[in-house]
Amino acid sequence: MIKTPCPLCNKQMAEHNKSQIEKCLWRFVREAKNPVAYASINPIKCPECEKQMLDHTVPEANECVNQFIADVEDLEIT
Ligand SMILES: [Zn+2]
Ligand SMILES: [Zn+2]
Repeated sequence: MIKTPCPLCNKQMAEHNKSQIEKCLWRFVREAKNPVAYASINPIKCPECEKQMLDHTVPEANECVNQFIADVEDLEIT
């Protein structure tokens, strides 16, 4: 379940339109899977478990990313 506003733009996920959600989702996936490269500049908090992405192990990060993608798809934003 998504617990926080968008980690990238701070709006509620349901307030995004389709192109915004694609942009935020793409950035989240990229940064979540490579937190060392990105988090020092712009630390992002996981919208699924509310930990910093840097505090995830790789399997945890993958799980949160996959869950987040599934939850965003469930919002059925058009
Ligand atoms: Zn966003
Ligand atoms: Zn997480």
